[in-house]
Amino acid sequence: MNQSSGNTATDTRSESHKKSKKTGGKSQHPHGNQRSSHAHPSGDTEAGSWDLSQFVVPEQEGKTRFHDLNLPVTVMHAIADLGFEYCSPIQAQSLPQTLNGHDVVGKAQTGTGKTAAFLLAMIDDFVCNPITEERYAGEARALIIAPTRELVMQIADDARLLTKYTDLKVHALVGGMDYAKQQNKLQNELVDILVATPGRLLDFCGNRDVYLDQIEVLVIDEADRMLDMGFIPQVRNIIRQTPRKENRQTLMFSATFTPEVDTLSEQWTIEPVRIEIEPDSVATDTVDQRVYLSASDEKYTILYNLIKQDDVDSLIVFANRRDQCRRLHENLERHNIAAGLLSGEVAQGKRVTTLEKFKSGRIKVLVATDVAGRGIHIDGISHVVNYTLPEEPEDYVHRIGRTGRAGKHGTSISLACEDDAFRLEPIQELLGEKLKCEMPPLPLLEAIPPMGPRPKRVHDEKSQDRRPRSNSRGGGRSGGHHRH
Ligand code: AMP
Repeated sequence: MNQSSGNTATDTRSESHKKSKKTGGKSQHPHGNQRSSHAHPSGDTEAGSWDLSQFVVPEQEGKTRFHDLNLPVTVMHAIADLGFEYCSPIQAQSLPQTLNGHDVVGKAQTGTGKTAAFLLAMIDDFVCNPITEERYAGEARALIIAPTRELVMQIADDARLLTKYTDLKVHALVGGMDYAKQQNKLQNELVDILVATPGRLLDFCGNRDVYLDQIEVLVIDEADRMLDMGFIPQVRNIIRQTPRKENRQTLMFSATFTPEVDTLSEQWTIEPVRIEIEPDSVATDTVDQRVYLSASDEKYTILYNLIKQDDVDSLIVFANRRDQCRRLHENLERHNIAAGLLSGEVAQGKRVTTLEKFKSGRIKVLVATDVAGRGIHIDGISHVVNYTLPEEPEDYVHRIGRTGRAGKHGTSISLACEDDAFRLEPIQELLGEKLKCEMPPLPLLEAIPPMGPRPKRVHDEKSQDRRPRSNSRGGGRSGGHHRH
């Protein structure tokens, strides 16, 4: 929105933004905490002596550099720290449009760099157009809605990294974690970028801790997943509280474009630029995909031997059902393998600490369901194992996309047995290629040591969740997971 010259639609939109800002505030939020004016420095004071000469990326044909986008130096410094050099395809295609205020509807999955694509557009806008008037606590400039807690936390982490040399404030609102703490932060600090799951956000709106009528940029991430999880009525309610679509920029992302997604994008965006990043360009180029034909009772032996191999630094194993994940996790622990469990039945606090441990290398193995695994955005995962082949072919692409990220090489191993080998065909159709099926190498079939005794559970994992059980999962407004 900052580079609006020559774009009539954008100019109009920017004007109406300014207008809505001037009439906002006091009269609309008599109960809000009024704060003194809050100007964002757009200069590079925080960046110290850093300048672009320290971030040299040669021009390369067919590639867009972040240098070509005229981003503020504070943002370039953060990009340099992250080690990004060239825009990923979704960034190269969307940023020139979004930086000019256009709406975008993007077909892109995790692993494509879509998070930075939408974050950079809003950060550039907010740094270049600081608000110098009085602001209220709870009045965000951008709202990002995502279906799962993990995804929200990850987006908020990425936003903090990209805004680290600016004065912009990022808040995450997720269900299942400490409400009072999130509320306290909202009441005591200004917020620029608010990232939230739908249910928890509505709780905060209902309690008048959050006001959405000053939103300048709205991002709806994983719209298809929101549909699957039954969140659309909540999302509609949220969108109704934001300015009209003429007065906000709307960016919508979905891993698939279904007729329902198209209908929603027509309702929520204006003349959006459509961008499609095909799934097979996501990660499969950098992933060595292997399929081992195995008997169902050999799978655990193969997994165990694989984990013990030298080239396995970090591994995620996916299974379709929570009970399968629970059992696998327990068996690995009984074999003294440091493993973490990510599934809908594990309390949020525990999931966050598990991810932290995995990121820091304190645990080598994660066992996850598809929904819980969607939120894992960690680079450097060397192996993904499909312990059971997924029912939805798209989930195969999501799973293997956990490895081979950010240009690194990864390996995916699918264990196809008599019960699930039939799921290979739709996966191959989606990929547009045949997967080579082979017998597992003999070292993976070697006998494994006996398991230790079953661990005694001191307390149920769910007891760590502060919310009452009936509210903490699935139902109503918890904003949590639905399928697993
Ligand atoms: P996402 O699809 O947003 O989950 O991003 C996938 C991963 O790619 C994240 O770990 C990002 O930090 C990383 N990433 C995003 N953009 C770039 C880029 N332009 N160059 C290298 N890595 C990137």
